[in-house]
Amino acid sequence: MTESIAAEVQQLIMEGRAAALAGDTFTARTRFRRAVELDSDNAEAWLGLSGVVPILAEKREYLQRVLALDPANAEAAASLTYVEQLQAEGLQIAPSQRRQERRASGDASPLLAAPDPPVTAAVEVTYCYNHPDRETGLRCVQCNRPICGSCAQITPTGQLCPQCRKARRPPQYQAEASHMLIGGITGLFAALLGSIVVLFLSSIPFLGLFLALMAGPLTGELTVRIVEQLTRKRGRAMQAAVGTGLALGGLPLLGFGVMALLVGGAFLQVLLLGLWLTLMTITAVARLR
Ligand SMILES: [Zn+2]
Ligand SMILES: [Zn+2]
Repeated sequence: MTESIAAEVQQLIMEGRAAALAGDTFTARTRFRRAVELDSDNAEAWLGLSGVVPILAEKREYLQRVLALDPANAEAAASLTYVEQLQAEGLQIAPSQRRQERRASGDASPLLAAPDPPVTAAVEVTYCYNHPDRETGLRCVQCNRPICGSCAQITPTGQLCPQCRKARRPPQYQAEASHMLIGGITGLFAALLGSIVVLFLSSIPFLGLFLALMAGPLTGELTVRIVEQLTRKRGRAMQAAVGTGLALGGLPLLGFGVMALLVGGAFLQVLLLGLWLTLMTITAVARLR
């Protein structure tokens, strides 16, 4: 083994111990595993790894490796006795392992001799409440439930779980199903009425073309104002609801126009209705952001 690898292994063991003390068993395990990969004859690394895995059978295997490499290691011997005792009691996973191991071994290794309260609280095996297979030392600063790295969202006041994050959004962005329903129905009626008006406008020579195009953004804006008065909500859910309502409301006349077109109807009317529908929906969706 070259010197640089030996130095890397020492570094990994140090980082593993620091992570274990901080309660980040996931990082600790990653570091110790890498260390034993690089140097499978390192008793310190195996001992560290044994301390951060929750499964007793795994602990036992690693502790046996420590003792094979270093038969005089009292800490490993005491821990092994304790683990075997727990297995004899029928347990498969270590119960808030650290404190009891420390008591059993009476040892003062850096990994085991940290101050009592933070370590026992942090090293207790916890799993992300969204991902029960992911062990984690992180907790939501608001509800204190354990969360994994991919669930945690960092905010200026600390990491939040997805639920608390959602609840912290400003109230106007928390739309419920009833608000979405109101938004959708308003859009539907606005577009139905609007399409009749546009059809009428488009029949006026010259000026009608211009008016029909103006009606798109206008109907969109008007719909948003009404929806805002009724619900005081905006955001993605409302965009989807109002947008869908508008599009559906504009479709009947447009469909009618397309059918009329097939039998030789008015091309201009269909074009205007299509443009009006598009402009109206885009305006409303953009305004509800
Ligand atoms: Zn939370
Ligand atoms: Zn998670």
